[in-house]
Amino acid sequence: MSSIFTKIINGEIPCYKIAEDDNFFAFLDINPNAKGHTLCVPKKEIDKLFDLDDSAYIGLMQFAKKIAIALEKTVPCQRIGMAVIGLEVPHAHVHLIPLNEMREMTFKHKVSLTPEEFETLSKEIRANL
Ligand code: AMP
Repeated sequence: MSSIFTKIINGEIPCYKIAEDDNFFAFLDINPNAKGHTLCVPKKEIDKLFDLDDSAYIGLMQFAKKIAIALEKTVPCQRIGMAVIGLEVPHAHVHLIPLNEMREMTFKHKVSLTPEEFETLSKEIRANL
């Protein structure tokens, strides 16, 4: 069965999309640690990040870098943190999290946004790409 991220990439499940290219896809995390929390995902469904071949791994990091730069321009923060977890969704991805406090990296600190706020935020980030 396809992962929830493959369903998002294929447009079967909605998301607040940030960017995509031939190999990678970025969208806002629906349960964000902080405003602007974004997931960057390879389109090829592989569970663990470190099982990606070198080209996909480096490509994902290059893609994530572009998104992180746009995020930092958009969301007031001290810097963008990156995390790899994967305990919930077995489809490799990196979390990009605009940080002002250490607890925003804990995955226990959550913020809630309305659908309108998610939509506006995704537009603002896309405009800074
Ligand atoms: P993990 O696999 O532990 O790295 O966490 C998966 C992340 O995916 C969590 O932060 C979830 O909030 C996020 N997530 C799960 N389902 C969706 C979805 N449909 N849209 C956006 N983010 C999601």
